[in-house]
Parts: sequence; C-alpha cells; structure tokens
Amino acid sequence: MLARIAIGLSILIWIVGMEFLSGTSMADEKDPSIVQYRLSFRQADTHRVDIEVSVPTDGKSEIEFMMPVWTPGSYLIREYARQVEQLTAVDGKTNTPLSIKKKDKNHWLVDCARVDEVTLRYSLYCHEMSVRTNWVERDFAFLTGAATYITRADMLDHPHVVRIDALPNWPKAASSLSAVDARDPWTRRAANFDELVDSPILLGAIDIQTFDVGGAKHYLATLGGESFWDTASAAKDIAKIVEVEQAFWQDTPYKEYWFLNLATETGGGLEHDNSCVLMTGRWSQRQRAKYADWLGLVSHEFFHTWNVRRLRPKMLKRYDYNNEQHFHELWVAEGITSYYDDLFVVRSGLGKPKDYLEKLGKNIASVQNAPGRLTQSLTDSSFDAWIKYYRPDENANNSRISYYLKGALIGALLDVEIRSKTDGAKSLDDVMRMLWKLHRETGYTNDDFSKIVAEVTGESYSDWFVRSLETTQEMDFSKMLEWYGLEWKKREPDKDAPTDRPVFGNVFVGMDLLAQQGKAMVDKVTRDSPASHAGFNAGDEFVSFDGFRITAETWPERLSSYRPDDICKCWVARRGKMVELSIKLASQPETSWKIARIAKPSDEQEQRWRSWLNLQEPEKTIEPK
Ligand SMILES: [Zn+2]
Repeated sequence: MLARIAIGLSILIWIVGMEFLSGTSMADEKDPSIVQYRLSFRQADTHRVDIEVSVPTDGKSEIEFMMPVWTPGSYLIREYARQVEQLTAVDGKTNTPLSIKKKDKNHWLVDCARVDEVTLRYSLYCHEMSVRTNWVERDFAFLTGAATYITRADMLDHPHVVRIDALPNWPKAASSLSAVDARDPWTRRAANFDELVDSPILLGAIDIQTFDVGGAKHYLATLGGESFWDTASAAKDIAKIVEVEQAFWQDTPYKEYWFLNLATETGGGLEHDNSCVLMTGRWSQRQRAKYADWLGLVSHEFFHTWNVRRLRPKMLKRYDYNNEQHFHELWVAEGITSYYDDLFVVRSGLGKPKDYLEKLGKNIASVQNAPGRLTQSLTDSSFDAWIKYYRPDENANNSRISYYLKGALIGALLDVEIRSKTDGAKSLDDVMRMLWKLHRETGYTNDDFSKIVAEVTGESYSDWFVRSLETTQEMDFSKMLEWYGLEWKKREPDKDAPTDRPVFGNVFVGMDLLAQQGKAMVDKVTRDSPASHAGFNAGDEFVSFDGFRITAETWPERLSSYRPDDICKCWVARRGKMVELSIKLASQPETSWKIARIAKPSDEQEQRWRSWLNLQEPEKTIEPK
C-alpha cells in the first residue's frame, strides 16, 4: 500500500512538476555559472531523447561545446557524438538562431557575439543496451552521462543541473545525483561535469529497496525484473556484501549509494562514485549459478567505490574526455577487484568455499589455456586495453591476456606471498588499505604499489613485480596450493571411453567452429595447435573431415571416433576456393586446473584457509575429495 501511494504521488509531482515546481530551481536558473539541461522524451518510441543545454557566454563572441568520446571505467573510444542528431544553437533569451560549426568529431563552435546565453538543442538516438551506452523506449530510459551530455568545454568545473520531463508511465527516477529540491525528483544537480558523467539515470517503473549499512543509505533500484525478482531478499544479500567491504576498507567514503539493477537480458556492470549499473537476466535470481554471478558482479562494482573510482592510477586522476588515457595499473584497478569480488561473496557468507574454488580453477584454466599469456605481459595488457582488450578479434586469444583474469590471479599469488612472508599476520588486504590511505589523494603507480608491499612485508618485491607484471613468465601456483592446503584435482576419466588406450575421443584440435546457415565456419584457431599447424584459417568453411561432410553440430561427435596421432585429410572452402589440408590430431592436455582441498590439511593449513575465506567455524560443507 505504501509503495502505491508513493507512486501515485510521484505521478502527481510529474504532472504539476514542470509548471509549478520549476520555481524550486529558480535560484539555479538565475545563476549564470551553471550549465542547465532539459531532457524530454516525447520521441521515446523512436529511442530518442531531446536535449536542450543552456550555458552563459560570459561576454565571449564564440564558445566551444564538447561531448566525451569515452566513459571512465570502460576503456574504449566510443564516439558518443555519432548518436547526436539535429544539433542547432539559439540565443537563449530571444530564441534567435545562432551560427554553429563543427570543429572536430566531438567539438562544436557557436558564434555568440552580443548574446548572454546560448541554448544548444539536439536529439540523441539511444538504442544500445549496455552499461556504458543509452537506451530509451516507451517503458523506460537508461542514460549514461558521457553518452548523453554536451557541455561548454571550459565549464567542466561548474555545476550542471538536469531537468527531466519524464513520461507519465515513468513514476520514478533512480540516480545518485541529488535533487535540487527534495519535493522535485525530476531536477537533479551535479557539482561539476565529472559528477554528471559519473551519474547514470534510470527512469521508469522502478522497484526501490533501501537499507542502511555503516551509517550510509543504500538503494537497490531494479527495473525489468517483473515478478521474477525478490528484490527485498536481493537487498538483504547486497547488505551483507556492503558490510564486508566497508569493514575491509575501514572507511566509508559516501553517504548514499545506488545499485541500478537492470534485469533486461543484457550483462555487465559499471562502477561510479556513488552508484553502479548492473545488467542481468530477468530470471537470474532463480538460477543458483547465475545469482552467484550477479552477487559477484555486485561485489565487484561496489569494490570499485574505492578501487579505481576514488583510489586511482595516477594517470587517471583527471579524466581526459577527448582522448585515450594509457596506464599500466589496470591489473590493480580491475584485476585485484576481480580477485576480491567472488572472495567477498564467500567472506560475506553468501557463497560456498567449494564454489569459490571451482571459479578460481576456471579462471586459472582460462589464462593457462590462452596462448596470449606467452605473448603479452600484464602491464602491456593494461596499457593497450583501448586497442586490444576492448577490441577483440579472432586472434585475441593468441595475442593478448586479460588484465581482469591474470590480474586476479597475480592478486591471489601476491596475497599468499604476503601471508607467508609475515606468517599470516598481514595480507593483500593490508596493502590495499595502505594504498587507500597513502594514495587516495595523489593517485598511485605500480612502483608505489610495490613499495607498499615492501613496507608491509619488510622485504623488497621489486623482482617479483617485474617478473609478474612485465614478463610473460608462467605463474607458479605451488606456494598458494601448499599454503591453503589445496591441490590440483585429478582429471576425471571419461566414463564413455573404451578401456583400451589410447582412447578414442581424447583428441585436441585447437579451433572453434560456428554454425552459420548450415555451414561449419572456423571462428578461431589456437596458435601452435594441430589446427594451426594444419593451416586452418579463421573464416574458412570446414567442408569435410576424413572424406565425409561435417557440420558444426556433428563435429564433436565425429571427433570422438578418432585417436590422438591420427592423420586426416580435410577440405575447406577459403574465399570460395577449395583447399585440401592434412591434420594430425593431438592428445588433450593432461593438466587439470581444477582445485580441491587436500584430504588431510594440517592445522596451519586449516587455519589459513579459514582466515582467507573468513570462515568462522570449521567448514562442514566441503567434502574430502
Ligand atoms: Zn571492474
């Protein structure tokens, strides 16, 4: 009942809002130092928002407008200006058209001699569902700051005010941007352009759950979950993660925090200072593994509240919205965040240690099975995120390594180094807290990070850092396994395989196929694999194997009838021309990257294991292997 009353009131406010409540922001309207927006959604059906932005001219005869080309947290030039349509400029007082010309891809110059205020009008096409782009439709709107706002290029440090003419069926707005007036949820204010860019807005029929942790207010704003989400229980789970992460950092640098949860069948997350965007499936909460992934996503994005939002690599201290900003520390910003995300799900009691080990094993396998680990170092992966990580092609697995995955593993290995060096007295947790304390204001470099590890352990780790970050030397997991009492799980024998060895089906080829209009297309070829030695190319149509036609669907079954070392003739069609290839099949790699606890851990191992995962009681859910 209460919720319904609240919704009804919101609609009433919306209906009368623009006429009467506009008076509440009169002070802002008269303030010449403010950039003011008005967003209207009368073209929502065609995925457009119409935007007006008014700025003072300060007596200048020409002023320059700018729109970001990328958004912090997602390191790819996205050219947001490509969605701008019908851009015009007028005298803000008289509505007289002004001359406007484009200076470059994301800057415009407006001729404004003898004009006090310029109003720019543009229509923005919003039809890309992701955490770093915009979406507008009849039912709701999701706006990403960088993808939405054009501002006066030299007014980035000034306040920016946004007024929203929402549709009548959008009763609520969810955003960390504060309301100019508590009675008017449709007028929001940012202290500067950075805050505006950092504050996505969700509009529609949103379910909002609130909870307090550590003296701060938190909101879970869910859209699109229909009846498939129990948001009250999801909020309770988030509260546990928030509690653990606040305790981890021993400092809560915000008063209010918004989890914007869009259950719209797209995936992903993006961090902001006082909010994050989570995109997930409608039914995620009903599936154990998917819900565990969602909790991991919550944990990840929330950890960024500290790591990468407020505690930044030095090169990212001031955002440059016009250009790429290259830096070597993404393995800390994203990798260490990834190390902690699933760990906090366990530490908060929401995840099982067994599931955590399974995920850890999968992450190790992803890195160890990627030939790119021998091609690209972790610091190069960080630096080239803009041109490699965010632009994967069919060769990506051969040429690059993920700073998320390898960064998380380096974080895990470093954690063990610190724990073992200090006999369990210190851990990576202490390093992160010291990094926060010493470098929150200044930003940090990899060198600063290494120095803190030296301070915490009393020993220089510079060689370890050079080896782990700047070379492609293989990672050594033995110390980690020994410390916590873990081991590699033996490969489980294939139950269907015949007993006479070598077995049929235990073969490795090294290529991925895609089914395309009934054809088996070669999607990716692993470097130094039987497929690459045979001369398969990405883009080939795989026509026949050992004299018989194959399809993407029948390929796994066909392979199961062959043995390692078998040599087979294949035909592929390459740009329309038939090419004969010969492939020598190999054995599946023997190594298993699955992790299990050893049968009889020592008391020390048991104690370290519990301390790592914050297990208060002896873990009963883990069965001996
Ligand atoms: Zn992240």
